[in-house]
Amino acid sequence: MDFSIPKEVEELRLKIREFVSSEIIPYEKDYDYTIGRLKHDTAELLRKKVKSAGFWTPHLPKSEGGLGLDLVGTAIIFSELGKSFIAPFVFNCDAPDEGNMHLLHKTATPEQKEKFYYPLIKGEIRSAFAMTEPPPGAGSDPSSLQTNAEKVGDKYVLNGHKWYCTGANGAKFIIVMSKVNNSFRRSTLFLVPTDAIGYKMIREVEIMGSHGQGGHCELKFENVEVPENMILGRVGEGFKWSQERLGPARLTHCMRWLGMARRSMEIAREYAKGREVFGQKLSEHEGIGWMFAESALEIESGQMLTLKAAHTLRAGEDARQIISMAKWQVSETLNKCIDRAIQITGSTGYSRDSILELMYRDARAARLADGPTEVHKMVIYKNLMSGKFDF
Ligand SMILES: Cc1cc2nc3c(=O)[nH]c(=O)nc-3n(C[C@H](O)[C@H](O)[C@H](O)COP(=O)(O)OP(=O)(O)OC[C@H]3O[C@@H](n4cnc5c(N)ncnc54)[C@H](O)[C@@H]3O)c2cc1C
Repeated sequence: MDFSIPKEVEELRLKIREFVSSEIIPYEKDYDYTIGRLKHDTAELLRKKVKSAGFWTPHLPKSEGGLGLDLVGTAIIFSELGKSFIAPFVFNCDAPDEGNMHLLHKTATPEQKEKFYYPLIKGEIRSAFAMTEPPPGAGSDPSSLQTNAEKVGDKYVLNGHKWYCTGANGAKFIIVMSKVNNSFRRSTLFLVPTDAIGYKMIREVEIMGSHGQGGHCELKFENVEVPENMILGRVGEGFKWSQERLGPARLTHCMRWLGMARRSMEIAREYAKGREVFGQKLSEHEGIGWMFAESALEIESGQMLTLKAAHTLRAGEDARQIISMAKWQVSETLNKCIDRAIQITGSTGYSRDSILELMYRDARAARLADGPTEVHKMVIYKNLMSGKFDF
């Protein structure tokens, strides 16, 4: 593996680091705690700034308005964006839109692209991805999928109940995972516009962390008619394409989370260097130093796993094992680093005078969404037992 960062990516990384620090982080104060998201006007203002700075949708090819980075370059840039919890949205590369862009880029027909992909990459609309269902439906175990579409003439009639669908409030369309004619093997992804008759957003579920611009929503689909030409890929390819989406999407989460973990330790370092206790700077107490050392090791290990996974995907090799390792390790590292940063900054870190309080609540979801830690451990050991991957 080549660990060197190409010169142009390094130059871009430094520019984006400076931009995030001077142009984005100062606006974190506009996060509205009552609604759990950045104020709409601020979000729009920052999106304009990002566009005019030429940093919009950094992960996309240049022909589609992006920066033409490969997955390794994207990893490096996303970990700079992750330093501010508001940056991924204002750069138009946050979940779930970023993963949906990847999926649409790969699978959408010209008609589907016209309707959904191009407006999405321009930031004119938002989207959601609906897989998870209330028990007994799909969660950790996708094979419990209950949502079903019946073929009637040249249409499919969709019925289902989904929840925790990020961004669905205000989204223009939703990519819905559903069985077809009650066959799990025929599971399929459907493109459903949110003005479709029979679609209903029931609520934004109240959660411990940020709602983001469109919440994490509970949805109902009651006899929603989806024309055949709004199938993504083909009937029966739902899991194939959702894996195609989830692999890189898990990785881009890791990239953003590494940035967030670094930011938490930077905040802690600044505090520890300034605060004096028991006759010396906090940073000079060995017990505190160990927390920094442990965090540095875990962040570096997470970075290596993430870059290796990006290399593996870029090479077109089977990346499932390394992606599960990266997702598990980085989501846990994120939680440990923010927890330590709060410990180091004392009551301030626990209060809303510090951004760590919000980061701590947001980070907790990382160990659940896109496969809980236990599911990734299961994937890893099953691969080892079956001999698909070695130690
Ligand atoms: C902030 C947030 C955003 C989300 N966004 C989306 C979205 O946009 N679209 C979407 O479809 N879903 C989304 N989700 C849902 C998320 O993907 C699911 O919560 C996740 O897949 C787990 O499913 P579940 O909540 O039903 O947990 P369950 O399936 O009920 O599992 C509960 C717990 O059981 C444990 N467990 C599961 N399997 C095993 C095992 N094999 N061995 C040991 N323990 C195990 C795990 O600890 C797990 O947390 C989001 C969730 C959150 C919190």
